[in-house]
Amino acid sequence: MTRHYHDRRGRLVRSVTTREPAWTEQDRAEVIALAYYRRTELCPCGCGHRYADTTSPEETGPQFVASRVVCRARLALLEAQRAAETQDIVGGARLWHVRKVGR
Ligand SMILES: [Zn+2]
Repeated sequence: MTRHYHDRRGRLVRSVTTREPAWTEQDRAEVIALAYYRRTELCPCGCGHRYADTTSPEETGPQFVASRVVCRARLALLEAQRAAETQDIVGGARLWHVRKVGR
């Protein structure tokens, strides 16, 4: 909403625009809580699991099983980068992008 202020002669002297905040108090509280959770509850190694679980005794805590898949987007990028490897200085300045094609 924009409110216009005029002087005694009706000339516009000031316009003040107020907008709805993009984030509500609730949004801000939730983001702060999420950041706090990530900082205090999650394992700092980056595995994404709860610290209490990852550091629990092996006999009483949960078990962890590792598996793997290949990120095909990263693979395509690495293959393209390897194919383009040259000794010239341009290589370090190239900007690479991966886009999804089809489906
Ligand atoms: Zn971890």
